[in-house]
Amino acid sequence: MALSLHNTISRKVEPFIPFDPTGKKVGMYCCGPTVYDFAHIGNFRTFVFADLVRRYLDFRGYEVTHVMNITDVEDKIIQRVAEQKTTLGEYTARYQDAFFEDLKILNCVDPHHIPKATDHIPEMIDLISKLMERGIAYQAPDKSIYFSIEKYQGCGCQYGRLVKLNFEEMRQGKRVSDDEYEKESVADFALWKTRVNEDGEVYWPSPWGEGRPGWHIECSAMSMKILGTSFDLHLGGEDLAFPHHEDEIAQSEGANVQEEGKPFVKYWLHGAHLLVEGKKMSKSLGNFYTLRDLLDKGYNGHEIRQLMISAHYRETFNFTLDGLAGARTALNRINECVTKLRGVAANTQTDPATEVITKFTTALDDNLNVSSAWGVVFDWVRDCNRKLADNSMDAETAAAELAAWELIDTVLGVSVDQEEAPAELAELMKERTQAREAKDFSRADAIRDELASKGWTIEDTAEGPRLKRL
Ligand code: AMP
Ligand code: ZN
Repeated sequence: MALSLHNTISRKVEPFIPFDPTGKKVGMYCCGPTVYDFAHIGNFRTFVFADLVRRYLDFRGYEVTHVMNITDVEDKIIQRVAEQKTTLGEYTARYQDAFFEDLKILNCVDPHHIPKATDHIPEMIDLISKLMERGIAYQAPDKSIYFSIEKYQGCGCQYGRLVKLNFEEMRQGKRVSDDEYEKESVADFALWKTRVNEDGEVYWPSPWGEGRPGWHIECSAMSMKILGTSFDLHLGGEDLAFPHHEDEIAQSEGANVQEEGKPFVKYWLHGAHLLVEGKKMSKSLGNFYTLRDLLDKGYNGHEIRQLMISAHYRETFNFTLDGLAGARTALNRINECVTKLRGVAANTQTDPATEVITKFTTALDDNLNVSSAWGVVFDWVRDCNRKLADNSMDAETAAAELAAWELIDTVLGVSVDQEEAPAELAELMKERTQAREAKDFSRADAIRDELASKGWTIEDTAEGPRLKRL
């Protein structure tokens, strides 16, 4: 079986066939964070979903180029820069750094390219110029540049392919700034926003006067610069399908830069939203969490990641603290089994067991059916545990099962074994062993308590003691 994915534009699950004639190379773009505050766990559901797609494509042998942009100029950011009397660069750097720390904690693989909007203003101006030349964009009396849906449709293009549109209800998106009253039609959107007093020092020169880019043009310009004018996969949360992604299609295809017959993007993937305790996250409801809030409650990145990828990406996911406790239990079961397999395998090296890999691949090939893939993993744990318990698992089989798990975990990315204890804790563990040998049990207990307070415990294995996350 081959990989199939649900394509928002066709509303169907389709076989995944990249543009590359050899079928190997894949270009993938995921809209990144708007760095105006700490990202919340809803945002991270989308980024962990993108990470799962990236890791699964790697696992399936594709040569992926993964791009995730940073939106570092946008209305909310400009407002905060003005309020805090700081510079754009200083303000966004703080939240950009925090975002990447959080991605690491969630064990997300780094994208190959992380373009920042403010580093690509010339590319955006170039794209807007092409739209102006084709008569699809126009300058309003306030000097801002808008995209004309009417002119675009007049060129034989269709607006509203991702989401079925009611033109009357359009343009209600919160990113539509109040200053867009100059545009000709309510459906049109800003490509270049002319400089206003509130923008402070946030502006760039352009052929149409000083100003700044609209949000949608940022992603069109950066994705096409890095991945080419037509690429395979574009991802984001479901709220981005309209207007953001619809506008990306309109701008990118409106500029007429693609080869004849090729679309801007072949497959559009949208992740459903995350709710917390059954409700939309909001600060006033007290159910709004950043990743840091959950870490402060004593959960670790692997547990949070496991929970985020426990359900299908197209299903709205209800995140609960009980669910996190369940994720902890689930990971402990896997890790205990893996530790026992290690003990039996000792140093035996062999190829991965094929049965579990085949079932896991079949599950994920089916539009990334991750809940079914977890089902495969837990059946496998139960099976291994049974064989370990009745001593019917020899070293060769244990090594093969272990190798299979390691391969599966290149996709799931949840194995606690990947988390190395800090060196100073490893030293403490050695000291505890020495204290016990010297029968200094009160010192040994004090060290155990200190390790526990830092979230680690000592586990005795066939190869001696090792540190394990609590
Ligand atoms: P933003 O930083 O606001 O541009 O959002 C970053 C990403 O998070 C986008 O792909 C959004 O679609 C996604 N997102 C926002 N809220 C949620 C949520 N509650 N659940 C899942 N994804 C979300
Ligand atoms: Zn985007």
